[in-house]
Amino acid sequence: MQKQKPNFWESKSLANLTKKEWESLCDGCGRCCLNKLEDEDTGEIFFTDVACKLLDLETCRCGNYRHRVKHVPDCLVLSLEHSEYFNALPNSCAYRRLYEGKPLLDWHPLLTGDPDSVHQAGISVRGMCISEEHIHADDLEDRIIQFHD
Ligand code: SF4
Ligand code: SF4
Repeated sequence: MQKQKPNFWESKSLANLTKKEWESLCDGCGRCCLNKLEDEDTGEIFFTDVACKLLDLETCRCGNYRHRVKHVPDCLVLSLEHSEYFNALPNSCAYRRLYEGKPLLDWHPLLTGDPDSVHQAGISVRGMCISEEHIHADDLEDRIIQFHD
């Protein structure tokens, strides 16, 4: 019997992934592109339903990924050198999960083979957020949400 090749995210550490493997971990949920608020005392992060102006609300992908930092200087560019960034990601995020030694969730496109599975599972922000272009920053506190995963 032929031995099955282990999944790269199970056999390799985050630090040893190729760029392609690293990028493929993103499930396309768009959750990290929602505006967040941080409790200054506890450091706790709260997500809102207000999306970055560059987020495509239908595909839940960045509208200008390559040049995103030029347009959105505070876009969180994940890197292992900044471990604090992982705390600002939702618990469902593959990067955060693998960083914390947890497995991917069963709807992840790498497991299902279907990029739409993140939408079908109700994990993506499709249909549940509004662009920050329509919301005043002072109103963010009223827009805090809880994810259901
Ligand atoms: S939260 Fe994680 S998996 Fe979802 S879009 Fe952001 S980086 Fe990708
Ligand atoms: S610039 Fe792109 S990747 Fe960064 S938060 Fe905005 S939509 Fe997301």
